[in-house]
Amino acid sequence: MKATISKVKNHVGGEVTIGVWLANKRSSGKIQFLELRDGTGYIQGVVLKNEVSEENWAKAKELTQESSLYVTGTVREDKRAPSGFELTVTSIEIIQIAQDYPITPKEHGVEFLMDHRHLWLRSSRQHAILRIRNEVIKATYDFFHDHEFIKVDPPILTGSSAEGTTDLFHTKYFDHDAYLSQSGQLYMEAAAMAFGKVFSFGPAFRAEKSKTRRHLIEFWMIEPEMAFCDHEESLKVQENYVSYLVQEVLNNCKPELKAIGRDTTKLEKIKAPFPRISYDDAITFLKGKGFDDIEWGDDFGSPHETAIAEHFDVPVFVTEYPTKVKAFYMKPNPERGEVVLCADLLAPEGYGEIIGGSQRIDDLELMKERYEAFHLTDPSYKWYLELRQYGTVPHSGFGLGLERAVAWICGLDHIRETIPFPRLLNRIYP
Ligand code: ATP
Ligand code: MG
Ligand code: MG
Ligand code: MG
Repeated sequence: MKATISKVKNHVGGEVTIGVWLANKRSSGKIQFLELRDGTGYIQGVVLKNEVSEENWAKAKELTQESSLYVTGTVREDKRAPSGFELTVTSIEIIQIAQDYPITPKEHGVEFLMDHRHLWLRSSRQHAILRIRNEVIKATYDFFHDHEFIKVDPPILTGSSAEGTTDLFHTKYFDHDAYLSQSGQLYMEAAAMAFGKVFSFGPAFRAEKSKTRRHLIEFWMIEPEMAFCDHEESLKVQENYVSYLVQEVLNNCKPELKAIGRDTTKLEKIKAPFPRISYDDAITFLKGKGFDDIEWGDDFGSPHETAIAEHFDVPVFVTEYPTKVKAFYMKPNPERGEVVLCADLLAPEGYGEIIGGSQRIDDLELMKERYEAFHLTDPSYKWYLELRQYGTVPHSGFGLGLERAVAWICGLDHIRETIPFPRLLNRIYP
């Protein structure tokens, strides 16, 4: 019977055939231990010289790392095995004997591994990280669908920039200019006016020449947008969502967290509600910590974000940033126009901003004013302004960077391992 490694538990005592790659091999005289992987997990295959044909024994001997094969064997429960099960091999059908594998067991620098990313993905650590990424994606869909959001996909090719910034990738759209999307937000606002509660999950592109451990050139963003929702209500959705992601990973990815050595006590305390600090108080706090490179009105850099987050040790919302450092569409505080109704959610352990969100301006005249104040002249945003003419409502939304969140949940030093094929300042290959 054909099976997968994750499902052998349903076949204890029975015989199964699994398509696998050889991850590792040990032998001691009359026994060969095959560490096998099939993408769903790992299992040890035991080949006993006295119990298999000479031909099968020879085939097992011939296997090199990454060789592909169909293995047939009897499933045995074994508490000591990492998966809890072992396979007593009865026969082997070799698909290919792999050539000398460049990745393991040798030691390599990051550049070598990145050049061989297409193979590096097979290592157990990369496997674990990308399974956690997959769990975060699944939990995202579950959370928003359970809360009656519908998924809407904004365009990736756009005729203009979302926020009037310069770090856009330019391309041609037949005879016109086009740009790769930095954020789908403006479109998501239109979608919210049509469907109420919406979310998107898609790629974002930023031609930023910054080389940090937190920034990718191409990353994936989750952007919920909610009609009839003020800033306060949006913060509640954000903290519930992030808590849910962490809990789902804790519940469903125990082996993966273990494989990457994540200290899960740090994740266990991530529960809504999250603490908040106003931008004003954050400035006072930083000055008290001896930061004299920051003044009211400046945006935070990563040392500032790290210092604030360290103080709380759980995700913290920094609220009401100065209007001039945030995007034009954020709603000014009605009682205090120099700040906007926004928040950045800073992850603990130095991972920085994982969410940026705000209430949006819903008044047409104010939006026009802000648009001009930011020196935005692009006529293609006529449609965006028009949303405020036909049944405008208070609305809010936010963007969570998937890879940022995964880097934090996994406790990684660098964001590059959180995406299968990272695009970095000096890398678009493989
Ligand atoms: P940062 O201050 O870290 O540069 P940002 O304020 O430019 O982020 P937003 O435009 O608010 O980012 O995007 C929303 C979210 O997308 C961020 O909170 C972050 O999680 C993620 N994000 C932004 N830029 C990147 C990037 N270059 N690589 C990976 N994730 C990113
Ligand atoms: Mg940025
Ligand atoms: Mg920011
Ligand atoms: Mg931001």
